[in-house]
Amino acid sequence: MAKQVKTAVTPTRSEDYSEWYQQVVKASDMAEHSPVRGCMVIKPWGYSLWENIVKELDDLFKATGVKNAYFPLFIPLSFLEKEAEHVEGFAKECAVVTHHRLEKNEQGGLSPAGKLTEPLVVRPTSETIIGDSFAKWVSSYRDLPLLINQWANVVRWEMRTRIFLRTSEFLWQEGHTVHATDKEAVERTKLMLDVYAQLAEEYLAMPVIKGRKTKSERFPGAEDTLCIEAMMQDCKALQAGTSHFLGQNFAKASGIKFQNAQESEEFAWTTSWGASTRLIGGIIMIHGDDDGIILPPRVASSHIVLLPISPKEKDRTLVMEFTENLAKELRNTWYHNSRLRVEIDYRDTGGARGWDWIKKGIPVRVEIGPRDIADNSVFVGRRDKEHRDKKSYKRDEFISAIKDILDEIQQNLYNRAVSFRQAHMKSIDDKNAFYEYFTPENRETPEIHGGFAISHWCGSEECEAKIKEDLQVTIRCIPLDRIKENGKCICCGQSSQERVIYSKSY
Ligand code: AMP
Repeated sequence: MAKQVKTAVTPTRSEDYSEWYQQVVKASDMAEHSPVRGCMVIKPWGYSLWENIVKELDDLFKATGVKNAYFPLFIPLSFLEKEAEHVEGFAKECAVVTHHRLEKNEQGGLSPAGKLTEPLVVRPTSETIIGDSFAKWVSSYRDLPLLINQWANVVRWEMRTRIFLRTSEFLWQEGHTVHATDKEAVERTKLMLDVYAQLAEEYLAMPVIKGRKTKSERFPGAEDTLCIEAMMQDCKALQAGTSHFLGQNFAKASGIKFQNAQESEEFAWTTSWGASTRLIGGIIMIHGDDDGIILPPRVASSHIVLLPISPKEKDRTLVMEFTENLAKELRNTWYHNSRLRVEIDYRDTGGARGWDWIKKGIPVRVEIGPRDIADNSVFVGRRDKEHRDKKSYKRDEFISAIKDILDEIQQNLYNRAVSFRQAHMKSIDDKNAFYEYFTPENRETPEIHGGFAISHWCGSEECEAKIKEDLQVTIRCIPLDRIKENGKCICCGQSSQERVIYSKSY
């Protein structure tokens, strides 16, 4: 029997992927469950990752002319009701405020009192409340386009929650834009999808497929929903961001009108687009290994940890000084848009200390002991390599090499994710083969959910629903790089003009 290699996280990915995910979140100290059902506490290591994502995404938005603003947390029920499909889509997930104070009850406890004349919905998304402001801000074509983003929390009362991936309260951004023509709004919808794809690929090292949702998967009230879909290591798809073309639906609901150049009044065309703390779950699931998380350097909570080693009292001052000086110099070094983020771990816990940082996924670990210092060197471990595979660098050589090391780690993570996706994506034209592909009992590794099947679809909702019912597999998207060719629908065998991406999903 092969010798069992001990991993820092149990179970391993192949033993039990969803339990592995929970254990990795715990071992990295990123977040924890809260006393409130479905809501999470994001701890500093997780929150700084979010802050870095926010910073980069915010920069990318602003480079396209978007400005930030803030709108109320509460939406009057009558606002949500203005767009019929929208309210229907969100009705089952709404937290509703009905009272505005607490009063002592007969049992000595507190009960809600002061009933509101109109219930307030805690925002699940803000099209309707922002639309109310936009109706006041827009009167002429000269006010357009209006390009606004809000960083906020939202609440969707999800029945089945999973930390980061699907929570009842989550942090996100929601962009809302108003345009004079449908063409311009459609272009903006695509542009923001490109921004999400850029964030995912260049910053999160997460390859994505850009596509269009089918009608049944569209955002409630939208004319068109574009998305980016990424493959996780259990081969399920994660919808990592969405961009919606809302047509004139929400403009009509909120009364967003403008005078055109010919001085006649028209309803405007709007878009909305969002990405959330789910991205953190995606980073964990796409890059993590059996020793924990691996953070892509461009958004990593921290880039480098310095680990001073001074078993003898007499060396302590020397080691500390060397470490502090190195930290200072590194923190003054720029890596892309920010200074290097450097931790120093003074704890004297031997091997356990190094493993803590491996589990947290920090890209680079630097050991500094008296012998290294005597040689003016440091001993460097990389999270994208085997943990024993460390290399000695002269101090100054390390400082000049660090940016390249981080870029190399970033690139390696991306390449690995691309190869993984490549290996688990295939064109399937035979119905039996398709059913087999998504039936885990047929495989040695039931934790792997088939993959992405690129198969023909005739366009009917019945076929889409049948596949979903039989296999819990959905059409993740119709790729924007359309795979146009004649073929036969994988479900009904009728003629089809294009292939779509089928997969299980989060
Ligand atoms: P939507 O407004 O429904 O298009 O959602 C925008 C984005 O938010 C989606 O693409 C998801 O990435 C994310 N998202 C939606 N629901 C949740 C949830 N319950 N928890 C975390 N992220 C979510």
